[in-house]
Amino acid sequence: MTFDTLNLHPKILQAVVKAGYSKPTKIQLDAIPEILKGSDLRASAQTGTGKTAAFLLPALNRLMNPPINASKGPRILVLVPTRELAMQIATQTEKYSKYLSQVKTVCVVGGVPYPAQVRKLSRPYDVLIATPGRLIDYIDRGKIDFSRLEMLVLDEADRMLDMGFVDPVKKIASCTPSSRQTLLFSATLQGIVIKLSEALLKIPVK
Ligand code: AMP
Repeated sequence: MTFDTLNLHPKILQAVVKAGYSKPTKIQLDAIPEILKGSDLRASAQTGTGKTAAFLLPALNRLMNPPINASKGPRILVLVPTRELAMQIATQTEKYSKYLSQVKTVCVVGGVPYPAQVRKLSRPYDVLIATPGRLIDYIDRGKIDFSRLEMLVLDEADRMLDMGFVDPVKKIASCTPSSRQTLLFSATLQGIVIKLSEALLKIPVK
């Protein structure tokens, strides 16, 4: 199987070729068609399996369609447990959107000064990658307009919950449109992760 069979936009495929990937990994083969169909998805995937591209490529593909309204807020929100992971995902988003000049990404994490982040949030953008604590800060200050959000991704959900982010994650999800597509990726799929998935996902494909 090659990436060409996955129905991704040619400019996204161009970035995949540029990244040097010759064929999709298992999680990419399993997840990308389901995400492109619009299904909610719950996936068990460890770091190193190619899970980030498994959600970023179809997320970026969604951005090839016009937004549902003309607001400036995110169309895709990726929530992650740590600053390091957020930055890695931001780097990968830049890599896969290399030929999509209109796609703008903002990364919002704790431990860095507010002014530069606030400036970025005041301009139109498409993809928001965030850790829960800092994002709640911005939500409470009215800095995020979720009215055109189409997709919520919870990455490393088990770590996020281990770090005590269950209520922040639920609060953030409750601020987004219920029409959104929700994807949950986790190294383990049990207990509290399944409970969160039942609370936030609609008939997920596994
Ligand atoms: P991840 O599991 O998302 O942390 O990805 C691990 C590494 O695999 C990253 O450095 C990606 O750049 C790389 N990667 C993702 N998809 C592929 C692929 N289809 N072929 C080769 N490498 C890939």
